[in-house]
Parts: sequence; structure tokens; C-alpha cells
Amino acid sequence: MKTVVIASNNAHKAREIAEALDFPGWEFRTLRDLGIASDPAEDAETFAGNARIKALAAREASGGRAVLADDSGLEVDALDGAPGVRSARYAGEPCDDAANNAKLLAELADVPDARRSARFVCALAFIDEDGTETTARGTVEGRIAREGRGSHGFGYDPLFLPDAFSGSRTLAEALPEEKNAVSHRGNALRELRAKLASQR
Ligand code: IMP
Repeated sequence: MKTVVIASNNAHKAREIAEALDFPGWEFRTLRDLGIASDPAEDAETFAGNARIKALAAREASGGRAVLADDSGLEVDALDGAPGVRSARYAGEPCDDAANNAKLLAELADVPDARRSARFVCALAFIDEDGTETTARGTVEGRIAREGRGSHGFGYDPLFLPDAFSGSRTLAEALPEEKNAVSHRGNALRELRAKLASQR
């Protein structure tokens, strides 16, 4: 059995990753599962840069195991791409999804529907036991709603209306499999899966 360390303690992300990379003989463990502490400063200006920082730190902390890191966030066009790489801490520390969503709605209060376009971005960095690095990126386009709806998912899901749902439902109103089918992380994981499968 090959253990892949997920460089995140977000249970939602961990489940999405384990379901997408269902290679025979692979098992996934979060840092917390393994009792490993790794919390590097995510100070890169890109999602890919931060994913690599997290992957390298988790690799070091786990003694050279295979690792997979995700860095993701929301880019809102009317806010020049904010909250971007600062999505998790948009409303300050500690991370608080409700406070982040409230801040986003306040920032967009005067922005009309036609200018509320946004996208989620996900960068993945996989480092195998032998040090081989494989990266992938996925996005999902949509709009920011005027109020939160739905109870599934996490983060900004209640405010995000994917174009793929014709703008009628938020990501938080979608079942997990419906979200995975259109999401930034789902798209990035499908790209990573294809790249890793071609290396096997
Ligand atoms: P990270 O854990 O440092 O990558 O921070 C990602 C942040 O972006 C999360 O805390 C959420 O605020 C937001 N985010 C990333 N992916 C999603 C998603 O699938 N749904 C909702 N919010 C997300």
C-alpha cells in the first residue's frame, strides 16, 4: 500500500482528493491523521507557488513520503482578483468562512449582477516518494450571489453560482458529486489523475 500524505487538514478537500485519485494500492492520510505538524508560511503570490510550498513542507515533515498539496481560492473580477491567494484569511485571522462571506457581500454591495463574475482556482502539487513533481490546475467560472444559499461544501460555496448550473443554484446547494463534476478541484484532480496514470 502506498500512503499519500494530503498536505491539508481540511476534511472536505481530503475527501474530494481521495475519491478522485482512486488508484489501486493508494491510500490517503491527512497530516492530522499521521500526527504530523506542518504549517509553512503560504507567502507566494500564486496558487501554484503556495501549493508547492505546502507540498515541500509536508514532504520534509513526513520524512519523504509521497505528498499532495492543494492551494485554492476565489478570484472576483470586480475586485481585481481578490480575495485570491488570501481567500482563507480574507476577513482576518483565525479563518472564518462566515466572516469571509459577509466581507465579500459587503465589498460587492454596489456591484450589479452583470459585473459579479468570478472563478474558483485550484492548484495541485504532487511530489512522489522519488521526488518527481507533477502539477495540475483547474478552474470553475461563475458569479457571486447576493445572499448565501445551501448547506453543503465549505468556504465561499454558498455564494458561488457556477455557470455550469446556469446560475440557478449555488455550489452549496449541490450534492458533493455534483460539485466535483464542475468544480475547480474536480477539474484539477482529473488533470492530475490523467498525468499520473500516464506515468504509471
Ligand atoms: P487554502 O486552504 O489555503 O487553499 O485556502 C483556500 C480557501 O479558498 C478556503 O478557505 C476557502 O475560503 C476558499 N476555497 C477554496 N476552495 C473552495 C471551494 O471548493 N469552495 C469554497 N471555498 C473554497
